[in-house]
Amino acid sequence: DTLINQIAAGEVIERPASVVKELVENALDAGARRIDIDLEEGGVRLIRIRDDGGGIAADELPLAIQRHATSKIASLDDLEGVATLGFRGEALPSIASVSRFALTSRRIGNDHAATLDVEGGRIGSIVPKPHPQGTTVEVRDLFFNVPARRKFLKAERTELGHIEEWLRQLALARPDVELRVSHNGKPSRRWKGEGDLLSEVRLHEALGEEFARNALRVDHAGGAHTEGSGQGLRLHGWIAQPAYNRASADQQYLYVNGRAVRDRSIAHAIKQAYADVLFHGRQPAYVLFLELDPRRVDVNVHPAKHEVRFRDARLIHDFVYRTLQSALAETRA
Ligand code: ADP
Ligand code: MG
Repeated sequence: DTLINQIAAGEVIERPASVVKELVENALDAGARRIDIDLEEGGVRLIRIRDDGGGIAADELPLAIQRHATSKIASLDDLEGVATLGFRGEALPSIASVSRFALTSRRIGNDHAATLDVEGGRIGSIVPKPHPQGTTVEVRDLFFNVPARRKFLKAERTELGHIEEWLRQLALARPDVELRVSHNGKPSRRWKGEGDLLSEVRLHEALGEEFARNALRVDHAGGAHTEGSGQGLRLHGWIAQPAYNRASADQQYLYVNGRAVRDRSIAHAIKQAYADVLFHGRQPAYVLFLELDPRRVDVNVHPAKHEVRFRDARLIHDFVYRTLQSALAETRA
């Protein structure tokens, strides 16, 4: 079983940033309002994620680290319209098989908390331990028992950079959640819980003052009468005015139903909308959220879930293109 989990870890857990991503997504799924992320040595030595979500009952701790024992799919129908971020029941067992792992939690409404250790896949016993409502997952010495993978980890700065970039991506999509990050015992970043909408403050924090100053607010829903019918589609967020463009594609954030994704077709649509005004080789900057019926998009293409597949990719491409083109045209009028 440990071997199967290690193989699965090979697919999903590439580096400390992938661990942070899986654990933070679990915290969000559990309804956390505040998440503390403590790191040591770029996350290689330690990743500790603590949340104030619903928690796990002591007797369910072993289940959480069992393969495919997700609490998030009730039916096949759920699987299609899945709303939560994680749903495969693979992350915790995979991570636990390649680290020194501890899961500590107190379920909402319970008086007592408990902890469960796993070392390289060997599961310990459930031990009472004080903890406020919510969950702490501790991951030490990532890949300590898989030297071939450990060898591919990069310098502390690089691994930390990957984590910070992922957290920035998340912070843009979830301004309602407070995130506190520390590295090697020192506070390194704090994202305050700002409320429901992506605030200018968070935009500014994430992408800099210049982006925020040049950002154009977009919010457009396709209606039944829209040409080409973007019915059921909504695109909102910020695009930078063409004058603010980049040499690299470093400020391109695209979310589909709240999930950060990479999508060639949409990236192309956005570039097309800018095509008249950007020099060759320059890149637009944006933070854009596309919302649509989850049944129109398949999120299970890749285990790490960066990619999606649309049922009607052409239509979505045209909707994005047209929406941004007219927003940009207004600024020039
Ligand atoms: P998945 O997220 O795909 O369900 P995971 O392996 O990531 O699978 O997590 C397994 C299960 O452990 C989850 O379904 C959930 O029930 C529980 N769990 C994990 N992390 C947390 C957390 N931070 N708070 C509450 N429950 C959690
Ligand atoms: Mg998960």
